[in-house]
Amino acid sequence: MNVKDARPDLAALDRTALEAALVARGLERFRARQIFAWVYRHGIVDPAAMSDLPATLRTTLSTEFRLSTPTVSSRERSADGTEKFLLTLADGRSIESVFIPDTPAMTFCVSTQVGCAMACAFCLTGKMGLVRNLTAAEIVGQVRVLARELRLQSSPFNVVLMGMGEPLHNYDETMTALRIMADEHGMALPMRRVTLSTVGLLPALEKLAREPLMPNLAISLHAPTDGQRGRLVPINSKYGIADIIEMCKRFPLKRRARITFEYVLLAGVNDAAEDARKLARLLSGLKAKINVIPLNAAAGIPFERPSDEAIDRFARILSERGALVSVRKSRGRDIRAACGQLIVEGQRQSPAQRLAVAAFGQ
Ligand code: SF4
Repeated sequence: MNVKDARPDLAALDRTALEAALVARGLERFRARQIFAWVYRHGIVDPAAMSDLPATLRTTLSTEFRLSTPTVSSRERSADGTEKFLLTLADGRSIESVFIPDTPAMTFCVSTQVGCAMACAFCLTGKMGLVRNLTAAEIVGQVRVLARELRLQSSPFNVVLMGMGEPLHNYDETMTALRIMADEHGMALPMRRVTLSTVGLLPALEKLAREPLMPNLAISLHAPTDGQRGRLVPINSKYGIADIIEMCKRFPLKRRARITFEYVLLAGVNDAAEDARKLARLLSGLKAKINVIPLNAAAGIPFERPSDEAIDRFARILSERGALVSVRKSRGRDIRAACGQLIVEGQRQSPAQRLAVAAFGQ
């Protein structure tokens, strides 16, 4: 892929934008539906192979557009079936995407940024800093590549925006990616199969609440008080817990939908019985479920995983207070594909990446 290629990227266009691009070239609007079916339903990216398009249109697509697709640089399979894909982008940057089988559905965990600016204290990606935002083409491209590599193009799958990056910090490209994934003529991925995870960037959450497309929402909470959360999630100094909870109360939810609150459990930091009681009080009255994620300890993360007894006690206290709680089984720990463990050593590393690699040997 030529990084200086200035032609519009077909993979970055939602159908409305593709229709406009075709019409601007004197082409028929409805061809966008056929192109979407080829690319997102059948996984065909070479216009020459789009056999129901007129030859002239195939030539126009080949000459006037490009269609970017991340390439698979490596693939690691965990003993539990989880697979981590290292993907290379057109500019040589790398990202990681993870396939988690049988949860109970197949799930693709995709990235929205190279690195992340949020600097959560327990997260290796946060240590990289933000390198750059991904384009919609690169976000959807991860789904296309994983579906192709795993031969799941005709099977139902879930997508969670929980890989590298904060999706709402890359709002426009993330929303374009969701529109592309949801398009009925292409992947037709129902939004009930998509979960967007955020630390709670309030202005972006307000915008999301007004979007016609509504993925499931997960809030990375991780602590019941501002004092504790501020040490784990630095952006809490700007968007504190009370404001996030107030926003969640107003957030439009579909019938029977709940907001997931993610809580990374760290030994001696946020796993006390009193923390569980405070968390239950904080979320009472909300349509919520709590996903307790015992830390995936790794070199470079200055926290410990709690004991099994502490994990059980924490979940039990929440449950006894009427909270809907699940404890996430860790997947892919042997290949560093678990939550908070995604970090990439690209050939062209940012200073932050080099620092992380030098400091932590990741
Ligand atoms: S936990 Fe998520 S938001 Fe926080 S630094 Fe890591 S990738 Fe960014």
